[in-house]
Amino acid sequence: MRQSLVIANWKLNGDLGLIQKMAEQFANNDVQTAVKVVICPPAVYLKAAEISLAPAQVKVGAQNCAAQSEGAFTGEISARMLRDSGAEYVLIGHSERRALFAEQDAELAKKVVQAQREALIPVFCIGETLEQREAGEVKSVLRGQLEAGLADADFSQLVIAYEPVWAIGTGKTASPEQAQEVHAMVREWVAEVAPSEAADIQILYGGSVKAENAETLFSQPDIDGGLIGGASLDPVQFDAICKAA
Ligand code: 13P
Repeated sequence: MRQSLVIANWKLNGDLGLIQKMAEQFANNDVQTAVKVVICPPAVYLKAAEISLAPAQVKVGAQNCAAQSEGAFTGEISARMLRDSGAEYVLIGHSERRALFAEQDAELAKKVVQAQREALIPVFCIGETLEQREAGEVKSVLRGQLEAGLADADFSQLVIAYEPVWAIGTGKTASPEQAQEVHAMVREWVAEVAPSEAADIQILYGGSVKAENAETLFSQPDIDGGLIGGASLDPVQFDAICKAA
């Protein structure tokens, strides 16, 4: 039986005040007994978030990590440093990292290895553009991303997040059926490469998830929770999304 997981990706948003508000929202809240809740603030806030959110049983994660373990890489943050700062999860390969920071498959595969070496759980993100969907390339694009980025992954310590690029921050959500079709395809792929993990691996949906649409998405058999952007900046709405899981 897979536990539901809801992850907040704050992107380049949030501050100490929002961490405090989240901590208050989730204190004396029993959603975390059924659903694992993780908040990924900007990396500089990880330690503060860990300290504030720990009493509420909310975990923290990072939004990115270096592909290297140490050395002359100005501005980078290693998986070990993130772990030291309280992170238990790390997003890898978010479409914004791929598109805006030119992150390539080979580099993402190294990040997955770095994360797992430091006992961080990678949340490996995949997704197709609207153009690719309209060209009927969803399956080949996603399989390509999975094969390349997870080439050296340990599937027992991994989360996969499906975020169609056209649904991120656009208000357009994949229909529950569209999302389920992809999630089932991803699980089938895991069954091919790591058969013993297919039933247990958590596969999250992301892309304009809101309190109103969360429940129908999360009720699909292969959707194990969500990766939430904009709506995770509102503690009340984020709490409602977690309850829907
Ligand atoms: P939105 O929920 O704002 O569409 O963002 C999704 C996302 O990119 C989460 O990683």
